[in-house]
Amino acid sequence: MTQARFQLTDAQKTQANEELFALLRIPSVSADPQHAGDMSRAAEFLRAKLAGLGFDARVDSTEGHPIVYAERLKAPGKPTVLIYGHYDVQPEAPLEEWVSPPFEPTVREGRIYARGATDDKGQAYAHVLGAELLLESGELPVNVKFLLEGEEEVGSQHLEPYLRQKAQALKCDAIVISDGSRFAPDVPTVTYGLRGLSYIEVHVQGANRDLHSGSYGGAAPNPINALCEIIAQLKDDKGRVTIPGFYDGIEALTQDERDMWAQLPHSDAEFASSIGATGLKGEEGYTTLEQLWARPTLDVNGIWGGYQGEGSKTVIPAKAGAKISMRLVPGQDPERITKLAMDHLPTLAPVGAQVTVVAMHGGQPVKIDLDNPYVRAAGAALKTVYGKEAAFTRGGGSIPIVAAFREILQAPVVLVDFGLNEDAPHSPNESFALADFHSGILTSAELLREMAQIDVQ
Ligand SMILES: [Zn+2]
Repeated sequence: MTQARFQLTDAQKTQANEELFALLRIPSVSADPQHAGDMSRAAEFLRAKLAGLGFDARVDSTEGHPIVYAERLKAPGKPTVLIYGHYDVQPEAPLEEWVSPPFEPTVREGRIYARGATDDKGQAYAHVLGAELLLESGELPVNVKFLLEGEEEVGSQHLEPYLRQKAQALKCDAIVISDGSRFAPDVPTVTYGLRGLSYIEVHVQGANRDLHSGSYGGAAPNPINALCEIIAQLKDDKGRVTIPGFYDGIEALTQDERDMWAQLPHSDAEFASSIGATGLKGEEGYTTLEQLWARPTLDVNGIWGGYQGEGSKTVIPAKAGAKISMRLVPGQDPERITKLAMDHLPTLAPVGAQVTVVAMHGGQPVKIDLDNPYVRAAGAALKTVYGKEAAFTRGGGSIPIVAAFREILQAPVVLVDFGLNEDAPHSPNESFALADFHSGILTSAELLREMAQIDVQ
């Protein structure tokens, strides 16, 4: 017999909102040292709440902002689920663009407006209240560990050492993260993969100084022209990257994935117009969603050289450069790809151009098997709450902590996002729909209940 769905009474909703508002009123801006006291206050707020729910809860100091850690391990033989979130927020600037003050949560048309409303206080707190909802009906059906950090918006610098140091204590069967946006308002979403990254800088040197373009032009090497020639050769006319070995080992999309994504509500025309572009130019043979989620990229992110001021200056510059990012997919190792690019680019240099390639930074792609039981549990929980099938998507971006969690704790990461892009995380007037907050609470409770059905040996 299946248990009844969870519900929230009006009184529970009001209580949930008030608690979240109290958390949102704390201006925990991790980037600004002036808010150090607020960081501690926000951490203590969460610790006290979790302790009140019967968790062993503490605030662990790091060399940066503290990490709230809480565990309740009263379900022997059941899975252990680690829920990650962050209590720090982006700076509020530009303040004048906020309709209501960023740290005074205000509800307009069913949405909570406040910095951190969706990213990530609202989404993280939904899990805290999901646990509370389960506790109100008895006991947590799985073992739960909360890890709420305070440095996500400034690069999570101290999280990885913390994970390594406490890997044994943090051991778990799955990691749940809600810190992003679902595919569309009426599409509950489980994200089961993210792209990785390889980032390089290319420097081209021509002559030993800037030259007069009349006295030397036509004979002297021009590093900007050379750089353009190099870049132009990095992709073919089908939009494929030409670096030898670039595609080796890539996990191919399955037909199931392609069919599944083809059914998502997406229109190329709307996508193009949403970014104000007149058309889309991606890799041939793949749909836009496939290009975004399952195919690697190579994009120039910045380019410089020569005279860029007012008017004209007739000069052949001595130097030029570019920054290039490559988004990677499962099967591509960032170090290997970086090395392939570093080896290949100098071979494209025309005579007289000296090319140096510098490795910047990278990140591993992540993909969780679609038939992983924890991924399936997330789909089932969403179906119960939203009354429709969940979409299984991947993300085009990279979340470095996801790869770190996976590597250090050796457990699948399940991304269940309650937010939407229109929540405007990081922007002025960030918001979170009350309905999404409440659905998040229910989803969290259902998710843990679904995960309790999974056999752990
Ligand atoms: Zn976030």
